[in-house]
Amino acid sequence: MDIPFLDLKAVNHEYADELKAACARVIDSGWYIGGTELARFEAAFAEYCGVPFAIGTGNGLDALVLVLRAWKEQGKLKAGDEVIVPANTFIATVSAVTETGLMPVLVDIDPATHNLDCAAVEAAITPNTRVLLPVHLYGQLAPMPQLMALAARHELLVLEDCAQAHGAQLDGRKAGHWGHAAAFSFYPGKNLGALGDGGAVVTSDEALARLVRALGNYGSSVKYQHDYPGVNSRLDEIQAAMLSVKLSHLDADAERRRQVAERYLSAVSNPLIGLPTITERAAHVWHLFVVECAERDALKEHLAQRGIQTAIHYPLPIPAHAPYQTLKLSPAMEAAGLHERILSLPIYPTLSAEAQNRIVAALNEFTMEHKAPHG
Ligand SMILES: *Cc1c(COP(=O)(O)O)cnc(C)c1O
Repeated sequence: MDIPFLDLKAVNHEYADELKAACARVIDSGWYIGGTELARFEAAFAEYCGVPFAIGTGNGLDALVLVLRAWKEQGKLKAGDEVIVPANTFIATVSAVTETGLMPVLVDIDPATHNLDCAAVEAAITPNTRVLLPVHLYGQLAPMPQLMALAARHELLVLEDCAQAHGAQLDGRKAGHWGHAAAFSFYPGKNLGALGDGGAVVTSDEALARLVRALGNYGSSVKYQHDYPGVNSRLDEIQAAMLSVKLSHLDADAERRRQVAERYLSAVSNPLIGLPTITERAAHVWHLFVVECAERDALKEHLAQRGIQTAIHYPLPIPAHAPYQTLKLSPAMEAAGLHERILSLPIYPTLSAEAQNRIVAALNEFTMEHKAPHG
C-alpha cells in the first residue's frame, strides 16, 4: 500500500465523532457567522498562544493582509514601504505584501534551519524598511530574540507568519507571542487544520485587534456603519467549531509528529541525505520534515518506486513566478539553489510505525547508482 504524503482523511477520522457533534450543534443553532462558536474558538486560541486577542479571518493570506492594511490605516505604513520577507517561503507571504501596495524585499535564509538569517536581515534594512515578516518555516521559530532586537533598534514593526507553526516555541514563548501581530492559517493541511479555509490574527495590541476585525467585516464595527474600506474575510461558525475540536488535540498531535521526527532523525543514517537542524531551546512542531539531497530528483523517484509519496516545499524560488520576476534574488544566496535539493517526507500524527520503518529503510537504501537509468 502506498504511503501518502499527508493522509488528511485519517487525521480527521480520529476526531470524527467530536467533529460531527460540533457540526450538528452549529446546524441546529441557526447561527452561522459571528456567533458563539467563533467567540469561543478565538478566546481559546488567544489563550493558547499567550496573547489577549485573536480574530478569525477567512484564511491565512487574509490574516497577513489585514494586519498590513490595518497598519496602513493607522498611518504606520504607506504605499511602497519595504517589508523584509524570507526568500524561501510559500507565495502567500509575498503576495500579502504586494496585495497591500508594499514592497517585499527577499532576504536570505540560514542554510541550517532555512529560516531568516539575522545578518542578512540587518544588511537588508534601508531607510524605507518598515516591517519584518519572519516565517516560522516547517514548524520551527525564526530567530525571534535577535529579530525583535533588530526591530527595536530600527523601529520596525514585526508580523510573524505562523501558518506552519501553531504551538511551536522558542525559549518557552509560542509562535504568535513575539511580534506586534501574527497571522495563522487553518488550511486543512496545516498542523491546526479546519475542514475548509480559515485563518486568524493574534496580537496584544487592542486597537489593532479592533481594526483588523472591522477591516475583515466590511470596515464595520457597528452594523451598517462602515468606517473603513473593508473586505469580507471572516471565520465562520462551522469552521470555528471544527477548530475548537482540533485545538483540544493540537499538543497531543504535535507530540506524535515529534515522535515521527525523532524516528527519522535517529534512524536515517545515509550520508547522501541531510537531516533538518533543530534550533537550541526550540520546540519544533514539525509541520514539514525537509531533508536535503544533491540527487533530490533521484531520491524522490527512488521513494516513489517504493510507494512513498513526498513533496517539495517549494519547487521554485519566488522570482521564478511571473508576478514576482522583478524581485531580486542573487544566485549567491543560500535560498537560490535550495529548491533543487529539498524533499519533504511524510509526517503526520497518524503515520504508522510500519510506514515509518518503510520510509527509513528506503532512505537508507538510496545510493548514487540510482542515478543511472539502468543501474
Ligand atoms: C499556508 C501558508 C500561508 C497561507 O495560508 P492560507 O490559509 O492558505 O491562505 C501563508 N504563509 C505560509 C508560510 C503558509 O505555509
